Amino acid sequence: MAQHEIIASALQQGRTLLTEIEAKQVLQELGIATAMGQLATSEAEAVQAAEAIGFPVVLKISSADIVHKSDVGGVQLNIQTPDAVRQAYRDILQRVAEREPNASIEGVAVQPMAQPGIEVIIGMSKDVSFGPVLMFGLGGVMVEILKDVAFRIVPISEQDAEEMIRDIKGFPVLDGYRGAATADLGALQHILRTISDFVEATPAVKEIDLNPVYAYSSGALAVDARIILEETQTSVA
Ligand code: ADP
Ligand code: MG
Repeated sequence: MAQHEIIASALQQGRTLLTEIEAKQVLQELGIATAMGQLATSEAEAVQAAEAIGFPVVLKISSADIVHKSDVGGVQLNIQTPDAVRQAYRDILQRVAEREPNASIEGVAVQPMAQPGIEVIIGMSKDVSFGPVLMFGLGGVMVEILKDVAFRIVPISEQDAEEMIRDIKGFPVLDGYRGAATADLGALQHILRTISDFVEATPAVKEIDLNPVYAYSSGALAVDARIILEETQTSVA
């Protein structure tokens, strides 16, 4: 399967971090919608990509050595014009070179600026006793300060997926609190179930972090995606 090719080739190169573009390719193949990026390796390519995608766009550093892109000045949002794309391309490379001089840089990913939605996080990590565990929570402040998250052990059933969404204290935020739009809970459940199946079938995956996913009244979109692979033994003798 194609998503295994991406993983196999990363492992072969001795990498444990997929780039965001690679991680989103894997998700797209699984049927999870993403704000998909296009790699640019020059200012001109970045402008071309932005024009193909349509403004406004987002530019992000693309590197298998950088886990937290905004921490190193590697993300610029809501870019409106070709000139601003060129400027952002230069600024990102310059900031990253200053803050992360040893990182090997593949280029800059150009992606559509997503419509705002309700921010959620979907993650998978491996517990020593329980194995793969899925996490669901509301994004931003809710997860960082309040630790308002729900966990389930892989594999999860349809009912588990529904329950873990309803378990978080912030659930009313997804459920039309004070007349706000209701999030598409089916779309979120679909992502949870798809990740569960994928992780079960792909032991080489060590960690997944979809942060944020935007939940809409219809559908949900993975805006950022991180996939970390298990370190493999490359030689035996
Ligand atoms: P990081 O590696 O720092 O987590 P992200 O890709 O998550 O980088 O980008 C940082 C923040 O920028 C996100 O949390 C989100 O708020 C915003 N963002 C990123 N990509 C997009 C996008 N395509 N559309 C709209 N907002 C985005
Ligand atoms: Mg992120």
